Amino acid sequence: MIDCLFCKIVAGDIPADLVHETEDTIAFRDINPQAPTHILIIPRKHIATINDIADEDRALVGSLYTTARDVARQEGLAEAGYRVVMNCGEGAGQSVFHLHLHLLGGRGLSWPPG
Ligand code: AMP
Repeated sequence: MIDCLFCKIVAGDIPADLVHETEDTIAFRDINPQAPTHILIIPRKHIATINDIADEDRALVGSLYTTARDVARQEGLAEAGYRVVMNCGEGAGQSVFHLHLHLLGGRGLSWPPG
């Protein structure tokens, strides 16, 4: 997608603080962190929102979670706990329309989120 910020990060056209890469996914630090560790995990393929996930994307979406698991271990969060969340649509606070998991940790996290 030409006008997608995260597609530009995937392509290497915009710099990002990459922490993990797989064949299908990349993970990088959020530019405006909401916790001591705040990492975004995205598919290389452009999918705008959860509403746009196709049945054929099932394995790809699963790989976002296996990447989250590996990044959490890498960042030393696995034992203490962390949160993985995906916003869908403007009403939920989605501001970049390329699917992404937020991985947040390194502090206590209350529930429910705001
Ligand atoms: P959301 O609001 O759920 O769509 O999340 C988008 C996230 O992308 C926000 O937490 C932003 O801080 C983050 N973000 C926006 N631009 C960049 C960027 N260039 N590099 C890293 N994170 C970014």
